[in-house]
Amino acid sequence: MDSWICVECSKKFDIVPVFEPEEYEVKGKKVVIKAEKAKCPCCGEPLVNNAADSRNFEKAYREYRKEENLLMPEEIKQIRQQYGITQVGFSRVLGFGDKTIARYENGALQDTAPNNLILLMKNEKNFIELWEKRKDLLDPKDVQNVERTLSSKYPTVKIDWNAVFNYNSLDTLYKVKGVNLV
Ligand SMILES: [Zn+2]
Repeated sequence: MDSWICVECSKKFDIVPVFEPEEYEVKGKKVVIKAEKAKCPCCGEPLVNNAADSRNFEKAYREYRKEENLLMPEEIKQIRQQYGITQVGFSRVLGFGDKTIARYENGALQDTAPNNLILLMKNEKNFIELWEKRKDLLDPKDVQNVERTLSSKYPTVKIDWNAVFNYNSLDTLYKVKGVNLV
């Protein structure tokens, strides 16, 4: 259990907290959460606890995400893992700084524009379209893992692409041969 400290009495308490509604401001928006709190058994002043504070802030962020229709950190992770791609790799495909996805997955609050871009990646066709344009920016090992995941998880999409590619090559080949024959 975390220790709660009374700054008035300079005492530490091992106490079971209560959950009370409290208003937090996140990016200028007010959100209400059930915050973890405790009062000093001696003087009645609110007790201080850094771990509880960060849990309350995390809760406020989650409430904000919910109200603003933003992805939760675990949803971002889930979308990334659809493709077996690393955090750095996913950041590069999306055109973010290398550490951006890691920060979002660890609870940093994303803006709406990057949020929506990540959301679109839920659809494998969107991911693959961007992937084909951006994969050269990734480490070869990352590329290999993603290609493997794509071909096992989304074989229909991959087969379609190959079919289109093969059709075009054969068509070109046929035309060249036809010209040679004439
Ligand atoms: Zn006290």
